[in-house]
Amino acid sequence: MYPMPPDHASSPRAAPARAPGPGPARVAVLLPLPLKGAYDYAVPPGMELGPGDYVAVPLGGTRHVGVVWGPATGEVDAARLKPVLLRYDVPPMPEAHRHFLDRVAAYTVSPPGAVLRLSLGATAALAPAAPAILYRRSGRPAGPDTRLTPARRKVLEALGDEAARPLGEIARLAGVGTGVVRGLVDQGLLEAVPVPGDRPLPVPDWRLPGPELSAEQAAAAADLVAQVREHRAGTVLLDGVTGSGKTEVYFEAIGACLAEGRQALVLVPEIALTGQWLDRFERRFGQPPAEWHSEVSSRDRRRNWRAAATGAARVVVGARSALFLPYADLGLIVVDEEHDGAFKQEDGVIYHGRDMAVLRGHIGGIPVVLASATPSLESVINVETGRYRMLRLPDRHGGAQLPEIRMIDLRRDRPERQRWLAPTLVRAMTETLAAGEQALLFLNRRGYAPLTLCRACGHRLECPSCTAWLVEHRLAGRLQCHHCGYSTALPRQCPACGEEDTLAACGPGVERLAEEVAQRFPDARVELVASDTLTGPRAIEALVDRVGRHEVDILIGTQVVAKGHHFPMLTLVGVVDADLGLHGGDLRAGERTFQLLSQVAGRAGRAERPGIVYLQTLDPAHPVMQALARGDRDGFLAAEAEGRRQAHMPPFARLAALILSSPSAPDVDRAATMLARTAPAAPDLSVLGPAPAPLAVLRGRHRRRFLVNAPRRAPLQAILRDWLDQVRLPASVRCQIDVDPYGFL
Ligand code: ADP
Ligand code: ZN
Repeated sequence: MYPMPPDHASSPRAAPARAPGPGPARVAVLLPLPLKGAYDYAVPPGMELGPGDYVAVPLGGTRHVGVVWGPATGEVDAARLKPVLLRYDVPPMPEAHRHFLDRVAAYTVSPPGAVLRLSLGATAALAPAAPAILYRRSGRPAGPDTRLTPARRKVLEALGDEAARPLGEIARLAGVGTGVVRGLVDQGLLEAVPVPGDRPLPVPDWRLPGPELSAEQAAAAADLVAQVREHRAGTVLLDGVTGSGKTEVYFEAIGACLAEGRQALVLVPEIALTGQWLDRFERRFGQPPAEWHSEVSSRDRRRNWRAAATGAARVVVGARSALFLPYADLGLIVVDEEHDGAFKQEDGVIYHGRDMAVLRGHIGGIPVVLASATPSLESVINVETGRYRMLRLPDRHGGAQLPEIRMIDLRRDRPERQRWLAPTLVRAMTETLAAGEQALLFLNRRGYAPLTLCRACGHRLECPSCTAWLVEHRLAGRLQCHHCGYSTALPRQCPACGEEDTLAACGPGVERLAEEVAQRFPDARVELVASDTLTGPRAIEALVDRVGRHEVDILIGTQVVAKGHHFPMLTLVGVVDADLGLHGGDLRAGERTFQLLSQVAGRAGRAERPGIVYLQTLDPAHPVMQALARGDRDGFLAAEAEGRRQAHMPPFARLAALILSSPSAPDVDRAATMLARTAPAAPDLSVLGPAPAPLAVLRGRHRRRFLVNAPRRAPLQAILRDWLDQVRLPASVRCQIDVDPYGFL
């Protein structure tokens, strides 16, 4: 987080307190659309409206859901004023939340309505829930004309006597199709019980005892608990190695928040939200939390949205979008794995979930806990400058050892041709398997091979709509673009020269690695894990269980396996290409590689068994490799900080990217030239570009980038807004603003 622009930078004015008696004749309503600000509407006689009320209003012939944002702007004459159609029966959006949305809009230089849309992720939730129909045994005996098939018998047994359950759940419990259950309803053996509204969310029980904490854990927990009890704002970096008990510690803070009767929010990178985490929560608090991520069903979304708004959802765990739920009374925000790039939203409103969480805490007077074993340089510097506090957990719980990290110099310890595992790593794997333990091979590259090339003419197979190579996915028999999702069958002929059988795979992806492993270790049980073969928390959970039950000897995976899973028998980690993330000249390439490889390394030896990690690298002298091998995180961060300070880069300066894109290359170039002419100029400000983005064409759109580099205290948002206000871009050109960019493609 950087200093915020002053409040008046946000467009809509502050809303007054909800007035008693009939409301004003006009109100300003913010719509979830990319408009400049809120629009005025007439309040029909008899309707009472206050700030934050959810309403339906007409616009351009359609009905939209909006939120009363404040008093009317008076910019529309009475004759053209349209009336509010209805007010929804949900609690009004709290003032702190509306203020938050305005500030997010100001910070990200986005239209406020576009930010509001992030909070209306389940508009179905505004209407009262349709009654659910549950079924239970009717108590009627089976007559002579009822056929009690074995399947039907199973249903009756599974149901027992009392409980009424949804049809689908009954079928699942009994292991039969829903038709069987319906048959029993038709026969009168089951009866329908309509229940109004949503099923209530269970309330986690904070009175249940937690584990006995170590002295350091207890001290950190007490500190957080006090802050939560006192409703004291402030961001705390909870810094501790993997396995040091950060989760246990922030669970204590959640318990304190529950005891205060307030809501707690835990943000996690979506792929880290696994069954393991949910199970632990349930073991600790007796009930599951409410979830909010891409896999939540629309029925649960509407229920959870409403429950966040009414306060019935006491703990919400979710991806970054969960920050935008309109919580009735938020009392704590935890951002787990705060360094993770997954918190950055890269399209639409471009924002960083962690930074916006800090902002939300600041506005609401809410404690914010940022947990990580490898904190971001941003957060570390914020601790150094006194903006955040820090709590440290130095040791692994139960004295488990951190793994030893060894380097394999690929220039000496070379894999054979068309193979990727160095002899040393192969030997270590053999020993690990012989000891009945598990190994993990990490390669952050999906598919079989990142490049397919014609041996006859040198042609490289590229995506037709992106500046990117097609990646072969041999298991699926396809070539895929990892940027736009384009996919095509692998051709037999080279599309350029027409030669047959000349296309060759270059370089390894995890599928190719699996092929090598199968050849070398034919008896080992190998499992391949990548985000395309394993999607969503449930699938990851199943895999974690299989590994935990030791049904897998060698796990091969991309970064989905790097996250906080706990595998007690895993004692060897091989990082196949440790240099992979260092290429590309990205500002945070070193930091990110360090974080990712530390996380992967953290998978090894978490129980009593010590672990060993091998890093295969072509550049063992690289500062990132050296720091990893020495386990010198703080030294690495210090060196990284010094480099960024000297280069005037974040977090010591500010960056914003402007990305122009258009299906037409001439259009986007014209727009870029126009913007270049009016680029802001100041002695300590530099504007780089326009330059073709590294991904010069993406999804058929040509892209040009500007990069603005400004001092920390510069009013970056105002500079960007003024700049863009001066130009009118052609309709075909889209302009995206990325404040604090993390991606540089
Ligand atoms: P982190 O979040 O820092 O990676 P966790 O909270 O996941 O660490 O703790 C790692 C493991 O150690 C977990 O299985 C956790 O249940 C266990 N653990 C941590 N602290 C304690 C404790 N005080 N008593 C019992 N088990 C603990
Ligand atoms: Zn593509």
